[in-house]
Amino acid sequence: MSHRFGFSKGCLHAEEVSVSELASKYGTPLYVYSENTIRNNYSSLAKNISAIDDTMICYAVKANGLLAILKLMAELGSGFDVTSAGELQRVLKAGGRAERCTFVGVGKTREEIELGLRRGVYTFNVESEDELWLINDVAASLRKIAPFSVRVNPDVDAKTHKKITTGKAENKFGINYERVLDLYKKAASYKNIRPRGVQIHIGSQITETGPFVAALQKMIPLVLQLRDHHKIEFFDIGGGVGISYRDALASSSTSWWGKNTQHITLQKYALEVTPLVKDLGLKILFEPGRSIVGQAGILVTQVLYIKHAGRKVYTIVDAGMNDLIRPTLYEAYHEIVPVKKQNRKTHVTDVVGPVCESGDYFAQGRQMPEVRAGELLAVMSAGAYGSSMASNYNARPRPAEVFVAGSSHRLVRKRESFSDLVRGETF
Ligand SMILES: *Cc1c(COP(=O)(O)O)cnc(C)c1O
Repeated sequence: MSHRFGFSKGCLHAEEVSVSELASKYGTPLYVYSENTIRNNYSSLAKNISAIDDTMICYAVKANGLLAILKLMAELGSGFDVTSAGELQRVLKAGGRAERCTFVGVGKTREEIELGLRRGVYTFNVESEDELWLINDVAASLRKIAPFSVRVNPDVDAKTHKKITTGKAENKFGINYERVLDLYKKAASYKNIRPRGVQIHIGSQITETGPFVAALQKMIPLVLQLRDHHKIEFFDIGGGVGISYRDALASSSTSWWGKNTQHITLQKYALEVTPLVKDLGLKILFEPGRSIVGQAGILVTQVLYIKHAGRKVYTIVDAGMNDLIRPTLYEAYHEIVPVKKQNRKTHVTDVVGPVCESGDYFAQGRQMPEVRAGELLAVMSAGAYGSSMASNYNARPRPAEVFVAGSSHRLVRKRESFSDLVRGETF
């Protein structure tokens, strides 16, 4: 999970392209992605799980569903994990194939199930009994047999932020471990559903391998029973591998992770989980999101004002929580760096946006070099759950987004205009 952003001659570059040049060409706020970072992350995962005979990587579209990213992932051979009809349609539009899609989510509607069936998704990851019976009904009405896999809640603590923990008994996700076998038995008497696999996903931004190993160890006896008695063909072990937000540019002196020896990497993860699953005689599915695109994107923003208020200094920038909500939603840390290195002293500042909310900040009490109005900052590691969670709050158009590969760059999403903001409205 390394990436291709770094300083050259005092200027931040995305691969070989200067970030200031991108900002003057495309404006700010601006999402910039490094295509080769995405390629490298995908191939690193693929390589490190190659000891397993049969695998399918299903990129989690919700991390970042830009068509340009989906097209790239499809070209790399990835499948997809979709959480809605909209995500499935995005994948299909970008050239992905439904038969390489897992359809996940606790609240699929009848219409969504119908679309998934008509397009022929690989599996429906089922999160409640009622959903399974509805899938059977819908399949019967279309004269189809729906492939399903139960998402099991293994009741394992992923040791991550409470809003992205999904594998504890008190979370809304999955079906209790103890009830799973009975559900497969019961499902056997329904004519229009067929078990294809079983799935877990215990959370996101998990920074150690322990919870993954614990969940797999708990699951394996159940998986073997399902394989032997219900002829499942795959075990989907979910996503959730965390990235290091703290040393995005390996600035060791300020790095919270120190030398970063403890932090999980896709490689460490693969090395630990591969031995546990490679001899199950099943196809193993992976659903990485953040670990593929998180470090591959930055949000570039211009400083508008420096405001002194009592003892506090606010650095007011042109990007807001509507563009990147992670700091306020997850109390997430993002490294923020001046795009041009200047020889200035550091100070403590809050980096805030223009949105009328106290929660509209990218950093609070951050020690960083002084910057001036008109200068650019880069919010690092913003490729996952950034653009995909962006909104139009405060009637703010969403940012332009660009792809960089080597020394070339291209717009992959236009900045929204006022007419985009009011499209569909009447009065
Ligand atoms: C969100 C999600 C993922 C991806 O999680 P990351 O932490 O981004 O890797 C995978 N599977 C399911 C079911 C998800 O909901």
